[in-house]
Amino acid sequence: MKYVEEFRDPELAGRLLDDIRATVTRPWALMEVCGGQTHSIIRHGIDQLLPDELELIHGPGCPVCVTPLEVIDKALAIAARPGVIFCSFGDMLRVPGSDRDLFRVRSEGGDVRVVYSPLDALRVAQDNPDKEVVFFGIGFETTAPPNAMTVYQARKLGIRNFSLLVSHVRVPPAIEAIMRSPDCRVQAFLAAGHVCSVMGIGEYPQLADRHRVPIVVTGFEPLDILEGIRRTVRQLERGEHTVDNAYARAVRPAGNPAAQAMLADVFEVTDRAWRGIGVIPGSGWRLSSRYREYDAEYRFSVSDLTTREPAECRSGEVLQGLIKPHECEAFGTTCTPRNPLGATMVSSEGACAAYFLYRRLGGGTTSREATPVG
Ligand code: SF4
Repeated sequence: MKYVEEFRDPELAGRLLDDIRATVTRPWALMEVCGGQTHSIIRHGIDQLLPDELELIHGPGCPVCVTPLEVIDKALAIAARPGVIFCSFGDMLRVPGSDRDLFRVRSEGGDVRVVYSPLDALRVAQDNPDKEVVFFGIGFETTAPPNAMTVYQARKLGIRNFSLLVSHVRVPPAIEAIMRSPDCRVQAFLAAGHVCSVMGIGEYPQLADRHRVPIVVTGFEPLDILEGIRRTVRQLERGEHTVDNAYARAVRPAGNPAAQAMLADVFEVTDRAWRGIGVIPGSGWRLSSRYREYDAEYRFSVSDLTTREPAECRSGEVLQGLIKPHECEAFGTTCTPRNPLGATMVSSEGACAAYFLYRRLGGGTTSREATPVG
């Protein structure tokens, strides 16, 4: 497929790998922030092709995985109410809450619908004026602008039976939290290219300076990732720590000003809990007071829920890069994509699901070879 295959060229991948091998002289630990990058790395076997000195640590950049259990339980409570149509992207339906998931709510009679855009949910609200329609707005800086736009649109059109259950998170505060963790082993970051295409790279130089880590904005295809790693390793070997944009075909330094303006109008920055990690200051968005009537948490006053994480799930450690998925005892036994214990086994961007799908069973072996680059 044009525009995809050219970023999976085996010959170019080989050249980039040769360059990386020739540059590395000692062990380095790099974190790819985004779950989409993790999926691509595992799918194409990129980590297995790198020199032994390089370790890729999988970061917390899967929005489904980091949505806190409390918010999932709120979604379940709202979706189960009579008179509510609860709309969501499909991958949220299997995310386990404390005692059930959205599929279970639907099987028990709840009106839970899969949509492909928040604007679809707004249309459902227009078509069902006697119902309360709620859209589950989760994700990073990439999905926040369309959700903000939908709330803006709802107010402009005077649609009052629509609201948003918000769990949006921001990447730079997460990088800050990872670097401040006493267990942190990360020495450099591959920043998420799609996030930077919206927000630009302006927040990263101070992070790179403060923690003396290279941050390389990186895309998602195999050649993008290898180029990001190549540039990162070059900086590490030289003792540099700058912000470098290796995804210039999509990322402008200033990002997307129109999307940023929409975010600033509809949302405000807030502290946000990340599942398995805890509260990270300033790491989320909530609807600003001007749009409070569109806030599902406010409209349905769901609070005082008691949450229960499964004791055996170690997704918090996976999300912080402290263990690899196959080091969790439940991996592939009591926890599989069909019966996930934690959100990292649900989403296609979750590290546990990626390891399961591509049969990374530990010990550096695979029972099914990863798809080779190209
Ligand atoms: S394998 Fe399952 S139980 Fe273990 S950390 Fe991953 S999601 Fe949690």
